[in-house]
Amino acid sequence: MPAVPRFIIAMTNVEPDNIADAVAALLCRPDPDRMFLLRSQRLRVLALGHGMAAFLDFMVALCDAQHQALKDLPLGPVPDATAVARAARDGLPAVDAELWSRDPCWIEALHRIAATMADVAMPRAARAALVDLYQMDTRWFEDLANRFLVGGVPPVDRAHTVFITAALQVYFSRIAAVIDVRALHNIPGVVARCPVCGAAPLAGIIMTPGGSRDLHCSLCATVWRSAPDLCSQCGATGGRGHHSAAGQGGRIRAETCDLCRHYLKIIDRSRDDAAEALADDLASLEFDFQLVEAGWHRTAPNPFLLGG
Ligand SMILES: [Zn+2]
Ligand SMILES: [Zn+2]
Repeated sequence: MPAVPRFIIAMTNVEPDNIADAVAALLCRPDPDRMFLLRSQRLRVLALGHGMAAFLDFMVALCDAQHQALKDLPLGPVPDATAVARAARDGLPAVDAELWSRDPCWIEALHRIAATMADVAMPRAARAALVDLYQMDTRWFEDLANRFLVGGVPPVDRAHTVFITAALQVYFSRIAAVIDVRALHNIPGVVARCPVCGAAPLAGIIMTPGGSRDLHCSLCATVWRSAPDLCSQCGATGGRGHHSAAGQGGRIRAETCDLCRHYLKIIDRSRDDAAEALADDLASLEFDFQLVEAGWHRTAPNPFLLGG
């Protein structure tokens, strides 16, 4: 994962009676049983007539493979409410993905995904990476996952991370779906990392007309509330700019920060309720090219684009 300052994670102490309401307002857990299917359905629509149709079709198959990998997959240990509360008290994510001791079930998910993808058409680099995966051992998978999570994947291994990411998303989204989040209460305005897993936001997402811009985790798919004027890269407020992608009816926008010159992609579901953060982000890569050409830097890349 890309380096985003970790110091802008913070939590508050909340009176127990207020916790449920506060969390309900500020944090939305993923639903892995539906999420990967909805994502693949959205990608299928976006791929029609798209300039990157072959890649998006590959992603359709990968999301379907993620969904299939869920069936009867063990979950492994998850932190109990006390551990989550302790992490929250210390201003840490509930399950810090960089430090969490992963259960081997994530590698089972990787094997299942790799097997499902065997006959799927895919870019040459992805095919070569998939062939490698069939031959590598657990230690290699764990090492590459660790490197990915701290943002240290060497160029030669970037295509492999597409499959590693897919398996880690399955694993961490299931944890995010079941942990007791009552102790997680973000301070709007100071949270730029996922309060559940600590990963960087993939994009901002607006769920309702006039609604707030929430942040969508790139790893576990938790959605959490962050102050609308907070830069998710440097934590600064002020100096914000807004840009809209051409021809998207305002569905795809970017929020820019004049201080650090980074941008956050915004997916506005109030303009199209079929929009899905990861799918719509992948299908609007052209907009990223335009922003980068104009001198902006993305806060966190879509992990599925690390393969180049
Ligand atoms: Zn997360
Ligand atoms: Zn900034």
